[in-house]
Amino acid sequence: MSNQIEQLVEYFRSSNYIVVLTGAGVSTESGIPDFRSPKSGLWNKYSPEIVEIDYFMRYPEAFYKFLLDGIRDTFNAKPNFTHYFLGKYEKKGKIKSIITQNIDGLHQKGGSEKVLELHGNMRKAICMKCGKKFKTEEIIKYYKEKNEAPKCSCGGIIKPDVVFFGEMLPTDTLNEAFSEAERCDLFISLGSSLVVTPAALLPHRAKETGSKLAIINLQNTPLDRDADIVINEKVSYILKQLDRKLENV
Ligand code: NAD
Repeated sequence: MSNQIEQLVEYFRSSNYIVVLTGAGVSTESGIPDFRSPKSGLWNKYSPEIVEIDYFMRYPEAFYKFLLDGIRDTFNAKPNFTHYFLGKYEKKGKIKSIITQNIDGLHQKGGSEKVLELHGNMRKAICMKCGKKFKTEEIIKYYKEKNEAPKCSCGGIIKPDVVFFGEMLPTDTLNEAFSEAERCDLFISLGSSLVVTPAALLPHRAKETGSKLAIINLQNTPLDRDADIVINEKVSYILKQLDRKLENV
């Protein structure tokens, strides 16, 4: 593994345009479970249909129960070393953008500014009928007090402004993510199983347009054989070593 880290240091130093894709695995160390880790992943406890749009429209209560029981910690979570590392190297001009599948807002809290949120975020919620916007705290309060899925005054169902399975991703953000993948000379994927498309297509696009590709993830991913570097370790453990070597300490 030390060879892989040396190689990563070398790539990091020699690259001029680094783009990072992050998945739920960068936030597990902030206490937010991911979906697919073998024991702790949410799909060991909940059915993935809870985040399918058709199911949500029929049974919104199931989603709100999941929100409070399963991913409640998202609201109080704090950035971890990985989020701060990414913010630090964006400020230094090395990392040009973060493309994230996460909805937890921790990259911004960790100091990153150019964050492309492919799956939306938990800051806002939206009425599915009239489009009125709400703060997520308001709708959680509503659910807690009435124990029913929040409804707008127009009668519409209110949904957190995140992309459910079966929904389109925000087109502008997705297009920008693909142009970042095409533009970079080093693409790093952190803590993603790389099975959810179209996010999983981005590393491939980067590679076919001439970038180096590094993947750091505890489990194997379907894109490992395309990558120049694959490290199956905790993200923060590797980034701490990378940081020390880049700072020459
Ligand atoms: P995923 O659950 O499919 O994969 C996460 C991967 O991270 C797993 O392969 C796991 O082995 C790895 N991992 C977990 N902890 C790690 C660590 N400390 N270091 C290195 N690897 C680690 O998640 P995904 O690929 O992001 O895609 C699934 C969906 O999950 C996305 O749509 C995303 O919106 C959603 N999600 C987001 C959050 C969040 O915002 N924090 C939480 C759960 C799910």
